[in-house]
Amino acid sequence: MIRTRFAPSPTGYMHVGGVRTALFAWLLARQGNGHFILRLEDTDQAREVAGADEHLMRSLKELGLTYDEGPDVGGDYGPYRQSERLDIYKKWALKLLESGRAYVDPYTTEEVQAFREQAQAEKRAFLYRHHRPETLSTDWDGSKPLRFKSDPKEYRWTDAVMGDRQTGPEVIDDFILIKSDGFPTYNFAHIVDDAEMQITHIIRGQEFLASTPNYLNLYEALEITPPVIASVPPIMNEAGNKKLSKRDGAKDTLEYIHEGIPLPAFLNFIATLGWNDGTEQEIFSVDELIAKFSLDRVQSSGARFDERRMQWISGAHIREMDIESLYNATSRYWPEESDAYDDDYKKSVLGLIQERLKKYSEIPELTRFFFIDLQINHELISSHKQLKKLETTELIDILTQAKTALENCEWSTEKIQDCLNELLESTGQKPAVLFSLIRIATTQSPASPELAGSLAVLRKDRSLSRISTQLEALSQ
Ligand code: GLU
Repeated sequence: MIRTRFAPSPTGYMHVGGVRTALFAWLLARQGNGHFILRLEDTDQAREVAGADEHLMRSLKELGLTYDEGPDVGGDYGPYRQSERLDIYKKWALKLLESGRAYVDPYTTEEVQAFREQAQAEKRAFLYRHHRPETLSTDWDGSKPLRFKSDPKEYRWTDAVMGDRQTGPEVIDDFILIKSDGFPTYNFAHIVDDAEMQITHIIRGQEFLASTPNYLNLYEALEITPPVIASVPPIMNEAGNKKLSKRDGAKDTLEYIHEGIPLPAFLNFIATLGWNDGTEQEIFSVDELIAKFSLDRVQSSGARFDERRMQWISGAHIREMDIESLYNATSRYWPEESDAYDDDYKKSVLGLIQERLKKYSEIPELTRFFFIDLQINHELISSHKQLKKLETTELIDILTQAKTALENCEWSTEKIQDCLNELLESTGQKPAVLFSLIRIATTQSPASPELAGSLAVLRKDRSLSRISTQLEALSQ
């Protein structure tokens, strides 16, 4: 059975890199009918941020990345917070002490720092094991750090994303297992936990790739067969030249969802940051992601975070939705002015803007004129490329003809379209002039959905009265 885990440290908000790691692990578990586990790695108390754990759990749930085991849902392999597992680490540490693979670090922090500086001054890589004492103390009372006694050697292994790797003995060192504050290091704790929790696949950031040979050394000492390890490259900023940061506009994940990117679209976007299915396909439903995801198609170079691509994917998902689901999904995004209107009216408005909608939070701006008569905005004409070239008398003339034609028009999208086409011929105007003028008169908005459909939804009397108001304004 596949068992994957997401193991964040509760040190901040849920950024897109974290979501991608979690999503990959979740997809693998769902694909294999396995379990996806949340483990909170809270052993660095200095870096901990109050409330971050709650936020992480809420984020995963809101993202639909539900976990089968975790701090707040339980499971057979708990506790799922590292700070509650100190006895377990101690038990494993004692095993290493017994087998002669751990020892008490005799040095103070300052002494170790001095060794490091000395190595730097002599321009050689610092290795703690060069200072490993002749006789090793195993008399551990917890007040000093406990170190791993490594067995330096060459390693060849295959990372599920990064491929075949090879390192020499010079990267292997005696790292700390348990700090003097009694908490284990990440290096030790994750190996114990992944073993105890029977994790089959580790998916994590590339920053742990360099330490992997050290982990392999520890796995051997503990006689554990390592899980599959997949090191995922970082998400890069849009220019692709550095890691994505808050400064590049990367937001807390939930903000994207609250802005109204549909959840499946967001997951589609995140999954395809560095993964594809080997074809040109870019739009995936969540079920397709589950069916098609595989670690060996995750790219080994960093993927660029392109917000326009996210909007594009979002728009594609929105266009695929049936109007009922779209309407239900958008309920909290409608402008206040729409309260006075019934569901059917709002659904027809939604049908008109569906084609161009990229996220639900755009709804108020795109739809307000369907609900209230906006004030005449003279600038819409005076700044319009074609219309600004015309004399006011000409504008009045064209709009008067339009009004007469529409008055005699039957009111359905099709019939209105026919009338508009006839009007094009009878006035001899270009669409960019005629339709823009009617559009501005009836919407008072710089952008609006296709004209005939909008007029049909607005209804005849309202469309005509708006044209009259525009005519009055022009004549003043
Ligand atoms: N706690 C580590 C982190 O936040 C987890 C790495 C892992 O998944 O093993 O980066």
